[in-house]
Amino acid sequence: MTKDIVKKKVRDILDEYLEANNHRKTAERYAILDAVYDMRGHFSLDELGLELETRNFRVSRATLYNTMRLFIELRLVIRHRFIGQTKYEACYDNEDHIHQICTVCGTVTEIESPEIADAIRNTKLHRFRKDGFSLYIYGICSRCQTVLSRQKSKSSNQKQGKNR
Ligand SMILES: [Zn+2]
Ligand SMILES: [Zn+2]
Repeated sequence: MTKDIVKKKVRDILDEYLEANNHRKTAERYAILDAVYDMRGHFSLDELGLELETRNFRVSRATLYNTMRLFIELRLVIRHRFIGQTKYEACYDNEDHIHQICTVCGTVTEIESPEIADAIRNTKLHRFRKDGFSLYIYGICSRCQTVLSRQKSKSSNQKQGKNR
């Protein structure tokens, strides 16, 4: 699905919801949705606020928060609780990746895993309708591994020096 099609589909979902619930179709909500689907990867509320400012939309934090809550309900956005930080992510047509989380520096990277996506698709659920999934793999990123192994060899060199 191209980005334009995705953006149209999610706008339709919001349209339908607002119409069905007699909510006003404020330009603000659509601007936020558009920005969300233009942001790449994971973002915080502050980052989203800044993006909207560059588009000349000043939106209060409370409005952003409430709008994101609505988007989560509508399955347009997913909220991640990464280590020490809450991040959001557009999730329509964007659910088949998994997250690698470094437990040392907190960096989150994404990888594609068709095997896991297939396995989950084929998993029989118990009295449950699946709307999506999100998977985290915890470990240590290569940068932190390099730093850690350097520290290790440094301290073992120091120990050897003392013994001499
Ligand atoms: Zn992600
Ligand atoms: Zn790291």
